[in-house]
Amino acid sequence: MTRRAIELALWIAAGAVWGWAADHPGWVFAGALAGGLGWIILDGLRARQLLRWLAKGIPNESPRLPGLWGDLVDRTRKLIKKLDKKAQNSEARLDDFLAAIQASPNGVVLLDAAGRIEWANLTAASQLGFDPQRDLGQYVRNLVRHPAFVAYLNAGDFDREIQIDGPGPKPTQPTKILLQVHPYGKKRKLLLSRDVTAVQLAEAMRRDFVANVSHEIRTPLTVLSGFVETMQSIPLEEDERQRYLGLMSQQAQRMQVLVSDLLTLSRLEGSPAPGQGDWIDSDELLQHVLQEARGLSQTIADPPHVIDAESGRAFWVSGAKTELLSAMSNLMSNAVRYTPGGGQIRAGWRLHADGSGEFFVTDAGPGIAAEHLPRLTERFYRVDRSRSRETGGTGLGLAIVKHVAQRHGGRVDVQSELGRGSTFSISLPASRVRRQVA
Ligand code: ADP
Repeated sequence: MTRRAIELALWIAAGAVWGWAADHPGWVFAGALAGGLGWIILDGLRARQLLRWLAKGIPNESPRLPGLWGDLVDRTRKLIKKLDKKAQNSEARLDDFLAAIQASPNGVVLLDAAGRIEWANLTAASQLGFDPQRDLGQYVRNLVRHPAFVAYLNAGDFDREIQIDGPGPKPTQPTKILLQVHPYGKKRKLLLSRDVTAVQLAEAMRRDFVANVSHEIRTPLTVLSGFVETMQSIPLEEDERQRYLGLMSQQAQRMQVLVSDLLTLSRLEGSPAPGQGDWIDSDELLQHVLQEARGLSQTIADPPHVIDAESGRAFWVSGAKTELLSAMSNLMSNAVRYTPGGGQIRAGWRLHADGSGEFFVTDAGPGIAAEHLPRLTERFYRVDRSRSRETGGTGLGLAIVKHVAQRHGGRVDVQSELGRGSTFSISLPASRVRRQVA
C-alpha cells in the first residue's frame, strides 16, 4: 500500500513540477491533478490486464505487472495451479473408481431422479442390451422393456430382486438376469444386475442328475424287492429259487456298477488333473484293454468278435495310468457291447505329425445317427436304451471318457454313420506324448 501511495505521490509531484516549470501560477495545481489522474488511469489499465488474464483462465499467460498488481497476479497464479492440481487428483481418483466399477462382474447403472441413465458400466449394458455411451440420458424403462422390470419400477418396492430375460446368443436362448434397485441420495437410484444363467443351468443339471440317478437306482431296486416279496410269500421249487436268486444278483450287480461309475465320475471331477508324472508304454495299455475286451466278448457274444490291434510304433504317454486304462476300456467295452457277435473291432494308437497321440477303436456296429453325436458324452444319454441296459450299461461310460481326456489336456472324438460302424478316439496333446528311442 505504501508503495502505491508513494507512486501516486510521485505522479502528483511530477505533475506539479511540470506545472511550475510552465511558469504559470494556476498550473502547479492543474499539473498535480493531471499527475494524479494519470496514475489512476494507469492503475485502471493494470487492473484491466489482470481481469482479462483471469477471464482467459490460462495460468501461464499471466501479465507482468508491478507492485500490488504483480503480487495479486502471483498469488492468483499459485492459487489456480493449486486448485488445478486438486481437480486433477480428484479426476484421477474418479477415473480409478469408475475403472473399478467397470471391472466388476456385476452390472452397475446410476439413474437420476427421473429414471434416466447417468452412467452405466459395460457389464450392465451388455446384460440389459443398451449402449453405455449412446444411451446416456435415456429413460431406463424405454431401453429395458421387460414387463416385470417396468412393473417393478412403477411399484417402487425395491426390497426384493427380480429376474428378467436378457439378450442371449440366440433369441431362443435368453440369459437370466437378476436386477435390484437401491435408492440413494436425492431420489437417485443404483441399479445392480447379475447374470445367473450359468448358476441356473448348473442347478438344472444338478436336479436332472439327481433325478436320473434316482431313476437308475429305483429300477433295479424295484425288481429286487419284487423278487424278495415273491420269495417271502410263495414257496418255490429249488430250480426256480435259484433262477430268482440269479436275477436278483444281476440287479444288485447293476446297482454296484452304477455306484462305481458314479464314484469314478465324482473322483474325476473333484481331484486335481494328473501331473506330467509317469510315462507309460502305449502298447502296454493297448494290450491290457484288448485282453479285457476279448474276455468280455467271449462272455456276451456268440460267436465272439474279431478283435485286432492296429500295428504301429509304440510311444510313451504321460498321465494317470488307471484313468487312461478306464477310459480306453470304456471305449473298447462299448464297441464289444454294441457290435453284433462275430463283428470286427480294431483298436490302436496313432502318432500325429504335430506330436499328439491318439487312441482309437473302430467297430462294425450299428453306427450312430448324426443328431445324437454331440450329446453322447452327457451323463445318462443313451441312443439305444434297451441295448445299453441289456449289456449292463450305465449311460456314464462316455462321460467318464470325456473327463479323463480333458483332465489330460485332450479330447474325445466320434465318427459314426448309421449302418457303417463307429470310430471313437481319445487324443492326447504333444506335451503328453514322447517317442520311444529304437
Ligand atoms: P452306456 O453305458 O449306455 O453304453 P455310454 O456313455 O458308454 O453309456 O454311451 C452312451 C450311448 O452311446 C450308449 O447308450 C449307446 O447308445 C451309444 N454308443 C456308445 N458307443 C457306441 C458304439 N460303439 N456303437 C454304437 N453306439 C454306441
